[in-house]
Amino acid sequence: MIHTVLDILKIREDFPILKRKVNGQNLVYFDNAATSQTPKHVIDVIVDYYSNYNANIHRGVHALSQEATDKYEEARIKIQTHFNAAASHEIIFTSGTTHAINIVANGFTSFLKKGDEVLVSAMEHHSNIVPWQMLCERTGATMKVIPMNLDGELLMDKYHALLSNKTKLVFCNHVSNALGTINPIQEIIEAAHAVGAAVLIDGAQAAPHIIADVQALDVDFYTVSAHKICGPTGVGILYGKEAWLNKLPPYQGGGEMIAEVTFEKTTYAGLPHKFEAGTPNICGGIAMGAGLDYMNSIGFDAITTYEHELLAYATEKLLEIEGLKIYGTAKNKTAVVSFNVGQIHPYDIGSILDKLGVAVRTGHHCAQPIMDFFKIPGTVRASFSFYNLKEEIDVLVAGVKRAKAMLS
Ligand code: PLP
Repeated sequence: MIHTVLDILKIREDFPILKRKVNGQNLVYFDNAATSQTPKHVIDVIVDYYSNYNANIHRGVHALSQEATDKYEEARIKIQTHFNAAASHEIIFTSGTTHAINIVANGFTSFLKKGDEVLVSAMEHHSNIVPWQMLCERTGATMKVIPMNLDGELLMDKYHALLSNKTKLVFCNHVSNALGTINPIQEIIEAAHAVGAAVLIDGAQAAPHIIADVQALDVDFYTVSAHKICGPTGVGILYGKEAWLNKLPPYQGGGEMIAEVTFEKTTYAGLPHKFEAGTPNICGGIAMGAGLDYMNSIGFDAITTYEHELLAYATEKLLEIEGLKIYGTAKNKTAVVSFNVGQIHPYDIGSILDKLGVAVRTGHHCAQPIMDFFKIPGTVRASFSFYNLKEEIDVLVAGVKRAKAMLS
């Protein structure tokens, strides 16, 4: 039985897309870990921007430019407040988590040398692996992997054993996109700092469920994508401690990021502009702030409690299907169920579910090392959000049963 203080049917009214049909069926949207849906509040903010004050920011004296600048900087402050950063200039607008990680990986090029080590968890999204591999190729540093167990939990004793005075950087996700595991990031950060290493936490999958307090965590870098927290695609943030952001070189050169340019030499702007070359996604930044406003108006405690009920219900019902195996059974996890049924290819199950209007993700979820670990080509991933219903999980379960009957 699902009890919630949230009025889910009322919340669903805020999401126009949830009313649409797919293949003649009611849409059941369970691909929230890839991209969350957008509430009317955020859509209205986007329409308002383009209808009323679309202009380039920071360099115009005219009214529209100033209005757009004010709203953009207000959004930065909203995001600062949400993640409890010490200063708004520690929030760098990016195109998303991938861009944010690349800023840091690029910035560390002159800080690493042969013999240095960087540690990565075994359950990362490719965007938290590949930029660091490129960094290692540039610098000669070595990447070591923090292993996990079959439940999808990091082996923390092994992590502590890997740390040494050679370790310069540790990068790990707060929540795994493929398994749903919530990682013990406080312990990861403290232990890394004890050996003098910096830590980047990829918060892309945590932000929809958990409010990270970057000061309490004492994390050096934290990354977020707006499109997973009711905001638009193509925008996100890099949080960085001021001292680190001052030390890192700019990632891209161009307009906005300079103090002065001559043909002989350029000096760079201060934070945050040093990392924000070119015209940014102005409307996107403003809408990201609106997405957070919307989620905060519902309340993260209520969101997490309700999503856990959905997770428990889905896990119980799916496990009643003979031959279904769930990957990612950590004690501490978010509302993600990754599974396979016997030897049936996940893509085939996903295709049948789509015919029934159920949107799930199939494949390696940009986390091929996890699939290699479990020796599988991929999984079917259903990921839930606060606007999903228990009845929709019943539709998913019936669909998986039907797919199994057709494909076995
Ligand atoms: N990290 C994790 C854990 C993710 O789940 C994702 C996207 O799914 C990313 C990074 C990349 O985010 P983006 O594509 O928004 O840059």
